[in-house]
Amino acid sequence: MSDLEPLNSINSGIIAEDKIRALFPILHQEVNGKPLVYFDNAATTQKPIQVIDALKKYYEVDNSNIHRGAHTLASRATDYFEQTRNLVKQFINAPSTEQVIFTKGTTDSINLVASTFGRKFIAEGDEIIISTLEHHSNIVPWQMLCEEKGAILKIIPIHDNGELDLEAYKNLLSNKTKLVAVVHASNALGTINPVKEMIEQAHEFGAKFLLDGAQSTAHLDVDVQDLDCDFLAFSAHKVYGPTGVGILYGKWELLESMPPYQGGGEMIKEVTFAKTTYNDIPYKFEAGTPNIADVIAFGEAIRFVNQLGKAAIRKHENQLLEHARERCATIKGFIPIGTARDKVSVLSFGINNIHPFDVGMMLDASGIAVRTGHHCTQPLMERFKIEGTVRASFAVYNTIEEVDRLVESLTKISKRKN
Ligand code: PLP
Repeated sequence: MSDLEPLNSINSGIIAEDKIRALFPILHQEVNGKPLVYFDNAATTQKPIQVIDALKKYYEVDNSNIHRGAHTLASRATDYFEQTRNLVKQFINAPSTEQVIFTKGTTDSINLVASTFGRKFIAEGDEIIISTLEHHSNIVPWQMLCEEKGAILKIIPIHDNGELDLEAYKNLLSNKTKLVAVVHASNALGTINPVKEMIEQAHEFGAKFLLDGAQSTAHLDVDVQDLDCDFLAFSAHKVYGPTGVGILYGKWELLESMPPYQGGGEMIKEVTFAKTTYNDIPYKFEAGTPNIADVIAFGEAIRFVNQLGKAAIRKHENQLLEHARERCATIKGFIPIGTARDKVSVLSFGINNIHPFDVGMMLDASGIAVRTGHHCTQPLMERFKIEGTVRASFAVYNTIEEVDRLVESLTKISKRKN
């Protein structure tokens, strides 16, 4: 559907910013009288025109319910929907399309695992390990499960730079550990966790490993076979796709052995009042009419990322992050939060004596969109004894000039109060 030929210059490893920005209509507007600088990409990325066009085309030309229609529109919609499943399979190198389940988002994917794997395989006295870096979505479902089952939640601590304490992790693992659920890249600090090694260590104790890929899939190569994770959860809207679509990948034998998540249409083979039999994976976990249009449009987002290549995206975003880190270090009162060596493009910080929310408001007045607050990681904020941070997170369409605008605004803000 998309014509991204001109972006092939990216093969040289250099991001053609103008060509990429031209694909994102939303970026070309003024906010509070200034050109918009969108640095809230960890919350959600903007959508390229081919994603927006795919949504429009679906409703104008193809709209139909999938998997059960006997007519042309239904089979066309089904084909496009299943094409996205195949694109996701390739995107994460899953062994089969059956192992790619469409959900509403990362939160829904994690809750699916907690409700089904958890219901069947977690018992009283079992242990689940998460980390201090987790988003509430990867904390609360496990707390709820532990409460219900009498299981125990263990927490991997972090060092002051925002990296996981891997020695402590090793000590937490035992034969009681049934599941480790850890974020690949922290949304609040950007820390990239050494998950391949952590997965291997969990497996030595027979524990399963759920990887929260919400913040990694847009930036890093995530190869589920190479990582050997048992589950991967992520959201389309953080990978240039629409909201309302999530992915759960799972190992075949696990998905087969787990009970269904929700009951309804699509997830059944046969229903009688005496007994219902369930559909094969992935449909067993996809009750009801899915988010057809957004799933189809997500296919365009994956094509967009594939065309650029993760290596080129990462290189570009790293340049932005390094530039921001260097320049911000010169701002009076600038306090970086999370200084891990290996990070996705997230810059979390405070400005001495100014509340993060006020910094965010002042930046907004200059047309710069950032996130402020606890970023759904309250225990992590507690660890640093802070209420929240200001978070600038970069995507492939951001530029060095935009980072400079952030630095100039922050310099002014820091002088205002100090
Ligand atoms: N996990 C992480 C690390 C996140 O950053 C987020 C969202 O910010 C989530 C989980 C939840 O994602 P969603 O709200 O799309 O379900």
